[in-house]
Amino acid sequence: MPHIDLLLCHATVVTMDKNGTIVHDGAVAVHNDVIVAVGDSTQLSHAYTATTVIDCENCAVIPGLINAHAHVPMSLLRGIAADLQLDVWLFGYMFPVEGRFVTPHFVRTGTLLSCAEMIRGGTTTFVDMYFYEEEVAKATDEAGMRAVCGQSVMRLPSPDAASFDEGLERATRFIDTWHTHPRITPTIAPHAPYTCTDEIYAQAVALCAKYGVPLVTHLSETAREVDESQTQRQDTPIGYANRVGAFSVPCIAAHCVHATPEDIKLLAAMGVGVAPCPTSNLKLASGVAPYLQFLQAGVRTGLGTDGPASNDDQDMFSEIHLAALLPKGLSGNPTAMPARTAFALATSSGARAIHQEDRIGSLEVGKQADIVVVSLDGLHSTPHYSYAPDAIYNHLVYTSHASDVRDVIVAGKMLLRNQQLLTLDEHAIRRDARAIASEINTFLANREENLIDKVLAIGTMAASEIFEVQVKAQISSVDVRTILGRLNQAPFTFLRQNSRTQYDTYFVWNDPSYGRIRFREDVRHNTTDKTSPYYTLTLTEPAVEIEHTAAIQISRARYTAQANHSERFYREYFQPNRVITITKERLRTHVSYQEMDFAVNIDTLTTGANAGPFLEIKSRTWSRRDAARKAQLMSEILAVLGIDQSRLIKQEYVEQV
Ligand SMILES: [Zn+2]
Repeated sequence: MPHIDLLLCHATVVTMDKNGTIVHDGAVAVHNDVIVAVGDSTQLSHAYTATTVIDCENCAVIPGLINAHAHVPMSLLRGIAADLQLDVWLFGYMFPVEGRFVTPHFVRTGTLLSCAEMIRGGTTTFVDMYFYEEEVAKATDEAGMRAVCGQSVMRLPSPDAASFDEGLERATRFIDTWHTHPRITPTIAPHAPYTCTDEIYAQAVALCAKYGVPLVTHLSETAREVDESQTQRQDTPIGYANRVGAFSVPCIAAHCVHATPEDIKLLAAMGVGVAPCPTSNLKLASGVAPYLQFLQAGVRTGLGTDGPASNDDQDMFSEIHLAALLPKGLSGNPTAMPARTAFALATSSGARAIHQEDRIGSLEVGKQADIVVVSLDGLHSTPHYSYAPDAIYNHLVYTSHASDVRDVIVAGKMLLRNQQLLTLDEHAIRRDARAIASEINTFLANREENLIDKVLAIGTMAASEIFEVQVKAQISSVDVRTILGRLNQAPFTFLRQNSRTQYDTYFVWNDPSYGRIRFREDVRHNTTDKTSPYYTLTLTEPAVEIEHTAAIQISRARYTAQANHSERFYREYFQPNRVITITKERLRTHVSYQEMDFAVNIDTLTTGANAGPFLEIKSRTWSRRDAARKAQLMSEILAVLGIDQSRLIKQEYVEQV
């Protein structure tokens, strides 16, 4: 009688093979890392002697679940920021925190935490995309799990690479080191079309082709991403990915929530694996992926959790549950997504999505022994019926939870036995995770207290200040003509003049000492300047303001930079107490007076009780002495222009509202 390592018996075996074979009172025989037999419990018990026999009475034995899209080290960032738009969440929170805290130790700790959680939840394989991916690979290997580990690359500096070249080098080294590993598939992961370039995709594809590994990327996650891609590249992100060769190698594309009918045909034709992430797609309000259309078109379709910072767990049972319910709710048709089809998304179909259907995804002879034992003994699972062939799927999809997972085996090795982790130290993982989280917590708490830190965190500007001397006066339209006339003659030297419309949005806080943010759209008139309209973000900190005589203000510190994001992004990121919009027509004249440069603005507001016109004189300064000298010269300029002190006003436009 042949001797084997392991026999699981007396189970409801859910094979997920092509015929959907279910074996009641069934058994699975395992030797080394593979399945050697699946069949009747009594027959297999007589056919083999086994080193370990596990009684699975009242349990389902299923293929290990496949999480087709994750960022496992991000478990350390779970719960950090929620209920935000994807761009605010990503550029406002994830990237700044990652830029500062993501180290090899962070990646290792987060991966171990995720592996522990995933094993407990019956996940045996995951597809990852992150930084320091060799640490993900090492920790996953120690945990005993199976994974596709994608070293993330993008055009922006990332925590482990200052430039794309460095990222590519890192990915090449990583793949070269790991590509012969039996459970870890190393690869490169261009983050997404909106964070990458044609060249990044081309080089990543070349690397995947060289080593025969799949390419991992994000595609068409949000409607906005698709709109922007259409504008900038005249193509959908999926069409673009195809154009740059991403589908010429096996590709695993996360999300694809906004795949168009044309995209779906392309995904099917090119054999691209898609990994919608139901919870993440709902939480970030990205939408619901066209699951049915994918399946009908024959697209390799899986399911993912996405990173735990947007989910916030890595529970594949809840993803299967949602994938079964969402198409029903959307279509008004309860037959739209049968439980068996939903369950396949995390098993047999999921294996196709990650291009490993030859190895995993079903319990069949010759396949890897990635097996999960799910208890059907819980109150929420009791009772169960077996008269209908597909009844077991109803249990697994609609009642089973991650906490019902009793035993987990990967490549023939036991990772969880009677709900005890055998390869990982849960206590140490918790302790290390809490220590890292406490540092991040302090950083974020400080950032919230201080507007400049919050501005700098999103990398929009360097920490360099501008100091200005400025004075402002209420004038009349008669004054305007006089002033403009005088600026054209001695004692002034006329330098240049321009006119523009400025749409200013101010973010204001109840506590004025917190500072103030201005988002400006500056539209220049009569110009061929291609940079118009020009967007700037300016932070004004009132704390360093010193008042000179006669409402001349000196040393008002401002931090200003080109605004890379939309007004909405900044509003949602900064969360001001009040938003004030001011539109003004500005005629700006640059003059030299006493060999110093001054900008003289004539402003007319388009709204408000007092629309002006106003005169504003400004000059940049760099020292207290220089500022005092300029303040003195401004008094003289006011006199030359015929503006007496009684007309000076100290308030800025935003303060008048
Ligand atoms: Zn993702």
